[in-house]
Amino acid sequence: MNKIPAAVLAATGSVGQRFVQLLDNHPWFEVVALTASDRSVGKTYQEACHWVLTEPMPDWAKKMVVQPSEPDKLKARIYFSAMPADAARELEPRFAAAGGCVVSNASAYRKEPDVPILLPEVNPDHIRLIERQRSARGWKGCILTNPNCTSTGLTVALKALQNRFGLRRAFVVSMQAISGAGYPGVASLDILDNVLPYISGEEEKVAWEPRKMLGELTDGGIRLAELTISAHTNRVAVSDGHLVCLSLELGQKAALNEVRQALAEYQAPEVSRSLPSAPQPPIVVRDEPDRPQPRLDRMTGKGMTTVVGRLQEDAIFDVRMVILSHNTIRGAAGGAIYNAELLVESGLM
Ligand code: NAP
Repeated sequence: MNKIPAAVLAATGSVGQRFVQLLDNHPWFEVVALTASDRSVGKTYQEACHWVLTEPMPDWAKKMVVQPSEPDKLKARIYFSAMPADAARELEPRFAAAGGCVVSNASAYRKEPDVPILLPEVNPDHIRLIERQRSARGWKGCILTNPNCTSTGLTVALKALQNRFGLRRAFVVSMQAISGAGYPGVASLDILDNVLPYISGEEEKVAWEPRKMLGELTDGGIRLAELTISAHTNRVAVSDGHLVCLSLELGQKAALNEVRQALAEYQAPEVSRSLPSAPQPPIVVRDEPDRPQPRLDRMTGKGMTTVVGRLQEDAIFDVRMVILSHNTIRGAAGGAIYNAELLVESGLM
């Protein structure tokens, strides 16, 4: 099969680098262009990018010249966007109007009623919103988004339980890795020997985005799931991997072993199961008392699997657990690539 030409928008940052690394030898997509801000345009990628990943920069990327994020200058069909929200708000619709499919990490369009927030192992049916988006906005292309990185693992676990028991209320406390703040991100003097109990806009996103993804696609759009989420979000001195402590009230009572079984046996809907980036299994349940841990468990399933542990009865709600998800892989670039695969598989390219 001829590979689909793809560009990475904002390729030099924390998420952009992950895109470049994960798209190396992708079976369906071939990177034909890399973009970044005016600061980097005209330099080679190697010159413009302070590479922070342990995996080496792919050879094909090193000599590519960084281009401006201009739809008429780029010749891709898929645009993987790692742009900051303000740049995404302005530029992503221009790519969609010009016929490009924008697969975005930015929060700019997640709240739009005709833009899906997608996790292929949770709500692949929501991709049909793109048809409404195209007819309402007159776009030949589209914008689809993945959720904020803290909502990702949380929503995968919630979906497994929603299917079997229903959901009522969730109390969530996150411990989020530094790479989630981008590069250079948080100053070392702020984060070393410290926990930052505030991440701008994050608590609101974690309280709302899972409700959209767990909601139902109706003729009138997405009906939000009837779930109340109270979220505290914290930045901690971990390089990669967001940990979330969840206390949950279920729709109907369930024994702990039934909850464990629902998580461990969860399978993605058929359409998403065999895609190249599909995590198999979507959820791994750990029974040791001190797992999951970011350093030990974040690369489970090449960083795409959600890891759940510390499953216990909860004194206030019904159950509690700890959820781990790799923020720049499952929560960002890897998730967006999985979404693009779903887009191709759904015949919406
Ligand atoms: P980052 O490390 O700060 O990188 C920002 C990138 O944006 C750089 O490549 C920068 O290029 C580029 N850029 C800035 N202004 C631009 C413009 N006007 N046009 C084109 N490119 C521009 O940030 P990040 O962590 O990668 O985050 C990228 C996006 O993904 C954000 O919207 C963020 O909220 C979202 N996200 C991040 C994570 C995560 O775990 N980090 C997870 C989910 C979602 P220069 O190098 O030239 O300045």
